[in-house]
Amino acid sequence: MSSVPVPTEKLRNQPHAIVDELELAHGAARSFRTVWLRCGRCPERCVFCDLPSYGEAEPLGPERARAQLETALPPGQALPWGLKLYNGSSFFEPRSIEPAAQELLLERAARCERIVVESRPEFGAQALAAARRWPDRLEVALGLEVADDGWLHRLGKRTTAGAYFATAAELSRAGIAVRAFVLLGLPGLDPAAALELCLQTLEACAERGIGSVSILPTAATTQALRRAQARGDFAPPAMTSVFAAARRALDLGLLTRIDLSFHFAPLGCDRCRAVCQALNQSGALPELSCPCVEF
Ligand code: SF4
Ligand SMILES: [Zn+2]
Repeated sequence: MSSVPVPTEKLRNQPHAIVDELELAHGAARSFRTVWLRCGRCPERCVFCDLPSYGEAEPLGPERARAQLETALPPGQALPWGLKLYNGSSFFEPRSIEPAAQELLLERAARCERIVVESRPEFGAQALAAARRWPDRLEVALGLEVADDGWLHRLGKRTTAGAYFATAAELSRAGIAVRAFVLLGLPGLDPAAALELCLQTLEACAERGIGSVSILPTAATTQALRRAQARGDFAPPAMTSVFAAARRALDLGLLTRIDLSFHFAPLGCDRCRAVCQALNQSGALPELSCPCVEF
């Protein structure tokens, strides 16, 4: 963590990153802007996730939240259809974003048709309260990762698959769209077993009424995974597995996306990444003919 430089005062009022992309929503490719807010550090330490290393000691307060959002949505410019407010933790985690800043961000983001925030299932009550204030606008991305309690424990997640699906169902009943993050590629599993576990998780999502998933191929971005990789116990999944997982999710009738944001070093070739983008925009997997993908 000490390797991450402390930002200057000016930088502290800027988001980490702003990314524009097209994504399928309500039957059409819509403009989405993803804003990676500069916030307080995630207090969790999940084995596969290095987001806590980008967090700060103090939570984000209203003043800096306003400044960061003005950078992301400059006054006088056209708004994106959807705005993803990601904070490298849970949006409703007060150690990352103060409640007054959460309120301010949601109020201003509600000028867009869709607001997407990430949350741990433990904050379901806060998500429900927010949805009551901004009905039909809020989408909550809930990190399921894997629908297996033993694996959740090993990964450092303090929830169970049952608790996860119960929260997701409650949010859906309240009119909140839910997207589940599902990991592909866990340490200690060979590629076939890692894919199988991902497919089982996708099947559990479909059975438990989750309509929308983002498949996250893992990368060796944390010390634990780098060590596992050095031992030969972990390798990022090949694109063949990524597309096999996406195909299965589509066959299960899930709105499917592939999220390559863990991969600061590109995964697959340009052509493979274009296929991922096409899937995210259209909800269908184009025909594949790429040397990266084995049939
Ligand atoms: S997966 Fe979520 S809860 Fe776990 S460390 Fe990363 S940001 Fe925190
Ligand atoms: Zn390729």
